[in-house]
Amino acid sequence: MSNNEIELICIICPIGCSIKVYKVLDNIKIEGALCPRGVNYARQEILDPKRIVMSVVKVKNGDLPVVSVKTDVPIPKKCINEIMRLTALIEVEAPIKIGQVIVKDVCGANLIATREVKKNS
Ligand code: SF4
Repeated sequence: MSNNEIELICIICPIGCSIKVYKVLDNIKIEGALCPRGVNYARQEILDPKRIVMSVVKVKNGDLPVVSVKTDVPIPKKCINEIMRLTALIEVEAPIKIGQVIVKDVCGANLIATREVKKNS
């Protein structure tokens, strides 16, 4: 494999096509995808990879010390460290509902709670 050749496994469906991407200057050639969805996936992965990010945030006065959170849409991979730093710094007050927005508009996404935390009685 040369520096300009990248191999990916398509994660869009269970077939898991092995895709090769050849990059020469600004041109991209994609081989191995059985359908256009795989071509789009490979192009996105090479030009602007994105991920759903999951983490935890500290909770004040809750029946649990932390709440699990995730971005509501995939964010650029280059923003993952920013999200992880942010989640390490903040603390939210219980009660927290599933789907509650914990941080609004960060890296093009909202950070939402993925579980409930009740207020400490
Ligand atoms: S390229 Fe198409 S057929 Fe192949 S794994 Fe991706 S989505 Fe499935």
